[in-house]
Amino acid sequence: MAESPHPLDFLALDHLLSQEERAIRDTVSDWVRERVLPEIETWFEAGEFPLEVAKELGAMGLLGMHLSGYETAGSNAVAYGLACLELEAGDSGFRSFVSVQGSLCMFPIWKYGSQEQKESWLPRMARGEVIGCFGLTEPDAGSDPGRMRTSARRDGEDWVLSGTKMWITNGSVADLAIVWARTDEGIRGFLVPTDTPGFSASDVHRKLSLRASVTSELVLDDVRLPADAALPGVTGIKGPLSCLSEARFGIVWGAMGAARTCFRTALEYATTREQWGRPIGGFQLTQRKLAEMALGLNTGTLLALHLGRMKDEGRLLPQHVSMGKLNNVREALEIAREARTILGASGITLEYPVIRHMNNLESVLTYEGTTEIHTLVIGEALTGLRAYE
Ligand SMILES: Cc1cc2nc3c(=O)[nH]c(=O)nc-3n(C[C@H](O)[C@H](O)[C@H](O)COP(=O)(O)OP(=O)(O)OC[C@H]3O[C@@H](n4cnc5c(N)ncnc54)[C@H](O)[C@@H]3O)c2cc1C
Repeated sequence: MAESPHPLDFLALDHLLSQEERAIRDTVSDWVRERVLPEIETWFEAGEFPLEVAKELGAMGLLGMHLSGYETAGSNAVAYGLACLELEAGDSGFRSFVSVQGSLCMFPIWKYGSQEQKESWLPRMARGEVIGCFGLTEPDAGSDPGRMRTSARRDGEDWVLSGTKMWITNGSVADLAIVWARTDEGIRGFLVPTDTPGFSASDVHRKLSLRASVTSELVLDDVRLPADAALPGVTGIKGPLSCLSEARFGIVWGAMGAARTCFRTALEYATTREQWGRPIGGFQLTQRKLAEMALGLNTGTLLALHLGRMKDEGRLLPQHVSMGKLNNVREALEIAREARTILGASGITLEYPVIRHMNNLESVLTYEGTTEIHTLVIGEALTGLRAYE
């Protein structure tokens, strides 16, 4: 038979990875197959995240893996991206967990924290012994977080924090909350141990997306913190935005993991399900769907890899990440929806992973900057004119 591209790696992107990058990817992929896939429908249906995996993720070096020192793995950005892809091929909840812990909670401490803060928190977070959450969004401040109301005022040497944060991943299971609050000098980040009096968290229920992930509301009712609870290295909205850019990079890759699972499921189904006496994959309309899905999957993965190499070379800008997030989450959703149509009625149940991924991707489309905001970020980069405020 004539040589043909591999359906799951059509452009042979595997050859663009180093041996070490492939080894990390395979380790995560094996773990997802053994630990996530057998149980994920149960967790999704129950609306639970199995917190006991935190230490396993830590033992694999996945928590803060692209940072350096403090017991982190010190991997390159591409390896981190590949890990995100494989985790999200299992479920977006697992990639979200790793993104929040590593990029949204460990990264600000690593980048903006004092030596004491780094030594006190990062090793335990890398091991998965301390779980973090990132409190930026508020009920009335989502896409425009600069208008947050949560405040931190000085009382002697102490800080006193008041306000409400909304839609916070891992909020009720976290040991440490990174809370962004308005101060007299501008927005600052605070390290808030969640057992501090005045801190409380309650979960958002009845979600139909990202069910295998904890989402919470945080209430800070005069939470008193010592002077050294503030991150000393950054003031202003650029602090949290830089963390989001780190986490979005993981989404650029992760979305392709969810897309790959949907594509693979649809391809297998199309070649085995028969109607009119032959596989539905033999009909031109189905082939068109599969070809479009393969196109989106391969170009999106190539884009992720390109951005990863740029990040490793220190050339990646937030606007590049916006382009990656915008394209890859949109493509992944398109692929998931097409896959669902190929599965027919079977596509609406949890027997197949497609509708679970499709629903998860609706959250991924919204968090870490919506499609509209990333479109306007690209528009601003092209024209020099800011259209979103
Ligand atoms: C499952 C989940 C987990 C999350 N985890 C976290 C977390 O851990 N920490 C955290 O801080 N936040 C988290 N978020 C919050 C998330 O980042 C916000 O939902 C997101 O920033 C959008 O804010 P919003 O939902 O308030 O929507 P809004 O900002 O109210 O936007 C509503 C709509 O208006 C559009 N819009 C807004 N402004 C403009 C404009 N200028 N031009 C055009 N259109 C515009 C938006 O694109 C969107 O379509 C999470 C959200 C979800 C769903």
